[in-house]
Amino acid sequence: MYKKSKELFERAQKSIPGGVNSPVRAFKSVGGTPLFMQKAKGAYMYDADGNQYIDYIASWGPMILGHAHEPIVKAIQEKALDSTSFGAPTELEIEMAELILSMAPNVDMIRMVSSGTEACMSAVRLARGYTGRNKIIKFEGHYHGHADSFLVKAGSGVATFNIQTVPGVTAGVANDTLTAAYNDLDAVKKLAAEHKGEIAAIIVEPVAGNMGCILPKAGFHEGLRKLCDEEGIVFIFDEVMTGFRLAPGGAQELLGIKADLVTYGKVIGGGMPVGAFGGKKEIMQHIAPLGNVYQAGTLSGNPIAMIAGFTLLTELKNNPSIYKELEEKTIYLRDGLNEVLKAWGQPYVINQLGSMISIHFSDHAVVDFASAASANNELFKKYFHAMLKRGVYLPPSAFESWFLNNALTYEDLDKTIQATKESLEEL
Ligand code: PMP
Repeated sequence: MYKKSKELFERAQKSIPGGVNSPVRAFKSVGGTPLFMQKAKGAYMYDADGNQYIDYIASWGPMILGHAHEPIVKAIQEKALDSTSFGAPTELEIEMAELILSMAPNVDMIRMVSSGTEACMSAVRLARGYTGRNKIIKFEGHYHGHADSFLVKAGSGVATFNIQTVPGVTAGVANDTLTAAYNDLDAVKKLAAEHKGEIAAIIVEPVAGNMGCILPKAGFHEGLRKLCDEEGIVFIFDEVMTGFRLAPGGAQELLGIKADLVTYGKVIGGGMPVGAFGGKKEIMQHIAPLGNVYQAGTLSGNPIAMIAGFTLLTELKNNPSIYKELEEKTIYLRDGLNEVLKAWGQPYVINQLGSMISIHFSDHAVVDFASAASANNELFKKYFHAMLKRGVYLPPSAFESWFLNNALTYEDLDKTIQATKESLEEL
């Protein structure tokens, strides 16, 4: 069934570390052969052996309207004829910035970069430059990309591979990153009191997606907002996952919280390498060439990347009903999964918000990293493979959220629920 993928994986490992260009793709934690993909259309992906999968990864978020979405493909093809890069400003970059400002609340100015990592790294540098302070607070199990300061108690692959300290990150950098449990406001207040006047920023995934999907408790973000106001701390919403996914205005809109700086990635690029950071003008004007906080990129604002993102965001802005449809589909899936999981009789937790959802095999509520890590992740691995065998492509780790795309049909969702029923019987 996976003959060609196996061959390709063997070959890949000779020239690429671990055979992959991003660790979680290697299936190392779930075992087995990573599937090498050939093509994808709508909600389906096809591997090198010609197997078809219903896709719940959506390239880890970006493909919110499905793969090879025709308007995006066409726009890229047309744009490429005018050159794939200029290294000079273009009108399209202004249109993209104006479009983002019209959708995202509390964003006065925006700077485009090429990944979520760059967006978060730049936002933190800006917060440090603006406040003249060194330390940041992040949350255990949250992932903000692989910049040095974020690789402390990080989620996603860092949690999947259980890497406690990342070699290569200096103690000096790591010491400037303070961590607290997600949803534990008192712990954050304590850190802020212990390090009064030293904290430049609090960076948070507003709805956590890198330890499975975990929702914020009522009052948590409001409490962080208040603390930041009182202590002169820059409040950074990492909306790389949630931006343009949970609502046109992302988690800020959905949760009704005002951040000082916001970072974007994934959906903003329509599947091209794009990230962005933006926020209050008062802070953003410290970025070079207006200010001295330096940040740059040879391919930042790249025309092909911009037209892909611009085309997707325009469609999302013009059809806000997409968000309702996505949410209805996700709730349908959640309810169907609940039914078969309940009948199965073992403990489990489903967390869901908008089109983000995940299952933890846990007998306790999953509200932070400790509760996610103490779930039965061995069982998740078996579930993952049982689903894969039945043509359902889930994230290969319990420390990842699933992302629904709007090309999914109710028939696909029914198939997924049925596959779960059969998989559970097999476990
Ligand atoms: N922030 C969050 C919340 C993310 O989920 C990710 C990637 N999964 C990043 C930042 C980093 O983005 P990228 O992989 O594009 O560098």
